[in-house]
Amino acid sequence: MSEESIRIQDDLYQAVNGEWLKTAVIPDDRPMTGGFAELDQDVEKIMMADFKAFADGEKTSDIPEMRYAVSLYKKILDTERRNKEGITPVLPVLEKIRSVKTPEDLNNVAAEFLLNDIDLPIQASVEADMENAEKHSFIMLGPPIILPDTTYYADDNPAGAQLLAIYSDMASKLLSYTPLSEDEQKKYLEDTLAFDALVAQKVKSQVEWSEYYKNHNPMSVDEVSSYVAPFDIKKLLCDLYGSNSPDTIIVYDPKAIKEMNGYFTRDNFDMYIHWAYVRALIRSAGCLSETLASLSKTYRRALTGVAADPAIDKQAYNVASMMYSEPVGVYYGRTYFGEEAKKDVVELVKKIIETYKLRVRKNTFLAEQTKDQAVKKLSTIEIKMGYPDTVKEFWSTLVFDENDSYFDAMCKLSSIRNKYALDRLLKPVDRTEWAMPGHMVNACYNPNSNDITFPAAILQKPFYSIKQSVSENLGGIGAVIGHEISHAFDNNGAKFDERGNLKDWWTEDDFKAFNDLTKDMIAQFDGIEYHGGKVNGELVVSENIADNGGMGVTLEIMHTLSDPDYQSYFKNWARVWCMKAKEEYIQLLLSVDVHSPNVLRANMPPRNFGEWYDAFDVTENDKMYLAPEKRISIW
Ligand SMILES: [Zn+2]
Repeated sequence: MSEESIRIQDDLYQAVNGEWLKTAVIPDDRPMTGGFAELDQDVEKIMMADFKAFADGEKTSDIPEMRYAVSLYKKILDTERRNKEGITPVLPVLEKIRSVKTPEDLNNVAAEFLLNDIDLPIQASVEADMENAEKHSFIMLGPPIILPDTTYYADDNPAGAQLLAIYSDMASKLLSYTPLSEDEQKKYLEDTLAFDALVAQKVKSQVEWSEYYKNHNPMSVDEVSSYVAPFDIKKLLCDLYGSNSPDTIIVYDPKAIKEMNGYFTRDNFDMYIHWAYVRALIRSAGCLSETLASLSKTYRRALTGVAADPAIDKQAYNVASMMYSEPVGVYYGRTYFGEEAKKDVVELVKKIIETYKLRVRKNTFLAEQTKDQAVKKLSTIEIKMGYPDTVKEFWSTLVFDENDSYFDAMCKLSSIRNKYALDRLLKPVDRTEWAMPGHMVNACYNPNSNDITFPAAILQKPFYSIKQSVSENLGGIGAVIGHEISHAFDNNGAKFDERGNLKDWWTEDDFKAFNDLTKDMIAQFDGIEYHGGKVNGELVVSENIADNGGMGVTLEIMHTLSDPDYQSYFKNWARVWCMKAKEEYIQLLLSVDVHSPNVLRANMPPRNFGEWYDAFDVTENDKMYLAPEKRISIW
């Protein structure tokens, strides 16, 4: 069958996006294009022009922190200095790691390492406490691994071995720039791979991580101490917090911590140090000469199928806008996002929440008391729309010296950010903090604070436009808003109450009924063949519940319109998911992404709704037909 003859009833995604897919070109420096990515490319383009104008003195901003962002941008562009300095700026850091000979040495510098992003045999951070979202907790998990998931380490996964070979080659080339002897270089690399293989046997898989609420494992510091010795967690906490040290740690990955002697012991201490050295080298090289920076991205390019590094001005913009995310996001929002649009979308969110309440009330599998709790949760969702009104004070402390090398500047900035993040342990949670900056093309729901964030950058075509029809906006941003709200009631969100606390607010029967529907949703996607692999229904279930919920609530609003256009609704829904990606990236997403492949996000949810069948006269002879008894409705 030729592409021209693809009928919408057989393949909504292809019928709507086929023409685009034929001609769309993936930029050399990106793993994908289309939908979200295409908008992101547009945002990047206008912001890069602004950064250039700032740097050239042709433009100024009334946001003081933008000066620092532009200064960092200029520093990155100074390739002459970077190329001249070569590996020199990182040598003191590498030497510091090398000087650590025993677990006791490590314990003495662990706090310093944590602040400076040098890998410890554990990862630690501070996050809102899941049981009491008003306060913070100290979080611990196992070390990071090289490959994207533990499943890549299985003997029957050929991609794992290939990727490790590319990583080794990259590490070995980078090591040749260090003062280490050839024998030492070899040994450091061998140890890095050996340590990584040990860690991979203990840490959680992506499927396990996808059950977010299971991260809440409080343990006493005494208990944790007994697992992680000779690493001294008590000393680390004391060095960070003095007499205010916590006595409880939330262990996100209990197996990795309880079985830490499977990878970190006195006997293999050197192995750990060599691993930490190589990881620091690879991470730092991104801020050194152009040759080293490009070399350090070899593995990432292979993993995602990206053909080339972004041009230097793009790299400079990307790093600066990430480091100064809030001021840059506020600048973007104030400059490019209209108040009229903001008001319009906030109204839409409120309408979607009210309609969601109606749907909960009409719901047939919940008892009244559970419905009351769900409605309460909906009533208290906080909306963060566009960008924050002001830039938080913290951002004005994020400074470096004019004379710093790019590498030194980044070290200073990272350690200021890390210190700020860790110091939050002793402060209450600030609910006015934004999870995403204004220039990011994305949206999110935070179960731990029951709030939704819609950055200004996503509030554009095809998601949203004042010029688009209401039906199109409902199929675009409306369904995305409904999706984010549904995360309050997906398999993770359902465990948290209206204040963002992990609490069981369900009757036993209701939760069982919900769980059965969740299993149906896992089954609807599990095993679908895609690019030579198979969809893992468990990994993607929370997002599929959210997609279905978002479609359900927006179709409910469609019923109330005086002139609903269901065809436009479904077509725009399919349009936002159009995507063309490198094969490597497709495979990576299939293994690690909690979202289903875009073509399935476009094509699966509609068939669960009667409106789809009416809009395009879809019958059992069409490929996008699903028998009524197989259609799933949760929210
Ligand atoms: Zn989502």
